[in-house]
Amino acid sequence: MYAFTLERPQALADVQKAVAAGGKPLAGGQTLLASMKLRLSAHEQLVDLGACAELRGIRREGDALVIGAMARHAEVGASDLVRSAYPALADLASRIGDRQVRQMGTIGGSVANNDPAACYPSAVLASGATVQTTKREIAADDFFQGLFTTALEEGELITAIRFPLPQQAAYEKLRQKASHFPLVGVFVARFAGNGVRVAITGAGNGVFRHAGLEAALSNSFTPEAAAGVAIDDSGLNSDLHATAAYRAHLIGVLAQRAVTKALG
Ligand SMILES: Cc1cc2nc3c(=O)[nH]c(=O)nc-3n(C[C@H](O)[C@H](O)[C@H](O)COP(=O)(O)OP(=O)(O)OC[C@H]3O[C@@H](n4cnc5c(N)ncnc54)[C@H](O)[C@@H]3O)c2cc1C
Repeated sequence: MYAFTLERPQALADVQKAVAAGGKPLAGGQTLLASMKLRLSAHEQLVDLGACAELRGIRREGDALVIGAMARHAEVGASDLVRSAYPALADLASRIGDRQVRQMGTIGGSVANNDPAACYPSAVLASGATVQTTKREIAADDFFQGLFTTALEEGELITAIRFPLPQQAAYEKLRQKASHFPLVGVFVARFAGNGVRVAITGAGNGVFRHAGLEAALSNSFTPEAAAGVAIDDSGLNSDLHATAAYRAHLIGVLAQRAVTKALG
C-alpha cells in the first residue's frame, strides 16, 4: 500500500470540499482498500464518509424509500422499514457477500463502484430508482454506463438512492462459491400501471435490462411467461466460471425463480 492521508469530516459541506480538493471517497473500503493494498490504485488522500450523518439513514417518502449512501448492507437487510416496504431489497442486501462485507459495505459504494457482478445495481435499475448526488438526481437508466463506469463526475458524491416501491419484486442469484458475488443475478419488479422491469447482473459488461423478459412479464407475470422467452447469449460474458451459453440459461432459470418468489 502506498502512503496516504485520511480525513473524516462530519458535515456534508466539508466532505464535499475535501473531495473537490482531490480526496478519494472511502465508504466501507471493501473494494477501495483491497485495491489499494494490492497497489492496483493509489490515492494520496482518502475522505472517510463514515462520520457524516447526512449520508446515513433510511426513510419512507410517500411511495418511495430513500436510503442514505452510507447505509451498510447489514443495516438495509435488517431494517424493519425496508423489510416491510420493499422486502426484495432487504433480502438482496442480507445475502450480499459474507458477514464482514455486509457489516462494512455500503449501498453508495456498491452503486458508485458498479462492479459488473454486484447485486445492488440490479435492484436500482429494475426499480427505476434515482441516484441522488451532491449535484443532481440521475435516473438509473442513465446512471450505469458499463464496466465500473457510471454517470458520476469527478468530485460528485452519491448522497442517497430513491427507490419507487413496486407491487411485487424479487431477486434471485447463483452465487459463486469463492467470491460470493453472483455468477448471474436477476431482479424483477412489477409496478402498478408501469409494467415490469427486469435487470440482470453478472452476465455482461455491466448491469442491463432485458427487453424480452420485460415484455413477456408485463403481459403475464408468471414463471411460464419467463420460461417462454429465448435468451440470446451473444454479448454475454464467457470466462473460467461459465460460458455465455450457461449464463444465458441462468438468466432464464433465475427469472422464473424470481417471478415465483415475487408471487409468494
Ligand atoms: C469478499 C467480498 C464479497 C462480496 N460479495 C458481494 C456480493 O455478493 N454482491 C455484491 O453486490 N457485492 C459484493 N461485494 C462488494 C461489496 O458489497 C461492496 O459494496 C463493494 O465492495 C463496495 O464497497 P464499499 O461500500 O465498502 O465502498 P468502498 O470500497 O469504500 O468504495 C468503492 C468505490 O466507490 C466510491 N464511493 C464510495 N462511496 C461513494 C459515494 N457515496 N459517492 C461516490 N463514490 C463513492 C469509492 O471512492 C470507491 O471508488 C463483495 C466484496 C467482497 C470484498
